[in-house]
Amino acid sequence: MNIKEKILNRMARKKGFKDYNEYSQYFDKMIIPSIKNNLEARDKKIEAKKEEIRLYDLETKKLDFCVLCNKKMGFIRYNPKSDWKIKGKLCKKCWYEQKAKNEDII
Ligand SMILES: [Zn+2]
Repeated sequence: MNIKEKILNRMARKKGFKDYNEYSQYFDKMIIPSIKNNLEARDKKIEAKKEEIRLYDLETKKLDFCVLCNKKMGFIRYNPKSDWKIKGKLCKKCWYEQKAKNEDII
């Protein structure tokens, strides 16, 4: 047994294992999977947070840009009428276009 093995065995015995080999097996079976699980859980949390931010950005964008022509709007945004079935805000031009279109149908 070389000096390195002796030291490793002594360290393992201090932790309550028979020798380093037993400690190493325990490490592979118990510690590694537990670390993997923790990392996976962390990754899932990060992905969920990213998705939350993405949805928030989309919502914010909906308010700043006309949902039809994508033009950036100023202070005045137009709410589409409920029977137009459009989600989000419209610029003036698109609002009047929609109004004309919908009035033609009626
Ligand atoms: Zn528009």
